[in-house]
Amino acid sequence: MIQCPKCSNSLPDWAQTCQFCHTDISKVPRPKTAETNKRPLMQTAAWIWPAYYTISGYFVLSGIWTIVQILISLSAKKSGVEVTGMGPIQVVMMIIGVLTSAIGLGLLFKVEIVRGIVNIFCWIRIASGILAIPTTIGMTVVFGPLGIVMLVAAILDIVSSGLMIFLIGETD
Ligand SMILES: [Zn+2]
Repeated sequence: MIQCPKCSNSLPDWAQTCQFCHTDISKVPRPKTAETNKRPLMQTAAWIWPAYYTISGYFVLSGIWTIVQILISLSAKKSGVEVTGMGPIQVVMMIIGVLTSAIGLGLLFKVEIVRGIVNIFCWIRIASGILAIPTTIGMTVVFGPLGIVMLVAAILDIVSSGLMIFLIGETD
C-alpha cells in the first residue's frame, strides 16, 4: 500500500491517481513487493529467451548441415577418396541430423513433448559431437577448410546442446 501525499489515504501500489482527491500520485515511490523482488529473475529471462530461440534455430540449421555433411562424405567415397570413420556412424549421424532439425522446429514452436525429450536428446548430441571430432579432423585432411567448418560445427553442437539443457530448465 502507498499513501496519498495530499489526503493521506491508503491506496493500492498500482494506483496512478488518488481515488479520493484525484491527485496525480504516479511519482509516489512504491514499496518493495514480492514482484519487485522477482526483478533479477526477469532480467535473466531477458537474455534467456533470445538465446533459446537462437539455439532452436541453430538446431534446425545444424540438423540440415549434418545431413549435408553425410551426403558430401558419401559422394567423396563414391569418387574414390578414402574417408575414415564412416559406415554405421553415417546412419546414426543421419538419424541424429533429421532428429535435430525436427527437435529444433519443436523448440521454436514450444511443443511441450519436444521440450520434455530435448534434455535426453541434448546429451545424445553432446556424445555425437564428441564422436564426430576425430572424423571431422580426418575431414580437415581430405577437404581442407570444409573440414575445419565441420570441426567447428561439431564443437558448436556440444556447446549449444549443453546450453540448451540449461535454457530448458530456465524457461520451464
Ligand atoms: Zn488523495
